[in-house]
Amino acid sequence: MDPFDTCPSHSVEVLRAVVEYLTNHFRVVGLRELVARRHERVPLAAITFDDGWRDTYDVAFPLLREFGVPATVFVTTGKIGSYQGFWQQVLGDMFRHAVVQGDAAAAQTLRKLIGAPQDSQFTAAHYRQTVIQWKGLPRHERARKIATLLAEHPDDSPGPRCFLSVAEIKEMHSAGIEFGSHTVHHELLDACPADRLDYELAESKAQIEAIVGDRVESIAYPNGNFSELVVSRSEALGYQMGCTVERRRIGVRENVLTLPRVEPEWDCPWGEACFDERGFVMRIR
Ligand SMILES: [Zn+2]
Repeated sequence: MDPFDTCPSHSVEVLRAVVEYLTNHFRVVGLRELVARRHERVPLAAITFDDGWRDTYDVAFPLLREFGVPATVFVTTGKIGSYQGFWQQVLGDMFRHAVVQGDAAAAQTLRKLIGAPQDSQFTAAHYRQTVIQWKGLPRHERARKIATLLAEHPDDSPGPRCFLSVAEIKEMHSAGIEFGSHTVHHELLDACPADRLDYELAESKAQIEAIVGDRVESIAYPNGNFSELVVSRSEALGYQMGCTVERRRIGVRENVLTLPRVEPEWDCPWGEACFDERGFVMRIR
């Protein structure tokens, strides 16, 4: 885990252990099949990836092929082919400059945007606190802060492309990977005005359908945030499955528009997967 990136991620070794565990203990199917068969007394599992990062193609896709298992990838359509991360990564880069490289100008810009005292010093913890605070800001206010940040410190050496390209999405889809929506702008949907909500849901769905030439039936709500309105509009606009980040197993009577999921943990001393009070918890050493 990068201390200046709040996006959950795992090493390829962890991913391999997870897929290995799942194939040994469950029948790994696509999300569509999992939902359709949730009443059966068969141990089924579906694998999902959020955001549409490029390493879903570079790292996960070959592994999924090796094990012969399907998966669903939830794509943020506004980021397809992008060289720039979400605002969390842009902010993380600025903190990294200030904290690790001792960039005084970057630190000064951050102090101004955060409203921190003149001589305050930053740590990785400040980065995580700021992400939490900025998540609660109105979209335009946050966008203004990020624009100021980029204007004062233009990124003149963009790194490698960090999100999936259209060609990669097409190739994965041809190989049996399902694609779902993760909105256009990774918006927290429960905080969106009604017209914005409909746009994020409908536009992302249309964009992915145009790329893969197939119906898009699922969505993963960014940050797991949803409300009654989010669910009803998702359903009205043609989604049949919605994924949250509530951590437990899918029940027989589950509302398929608010499906729970489990995220691999990797801090368990015995490196095992097990069941606990929350349901299935995977723990990787
Ligand atoms: Zn996301």
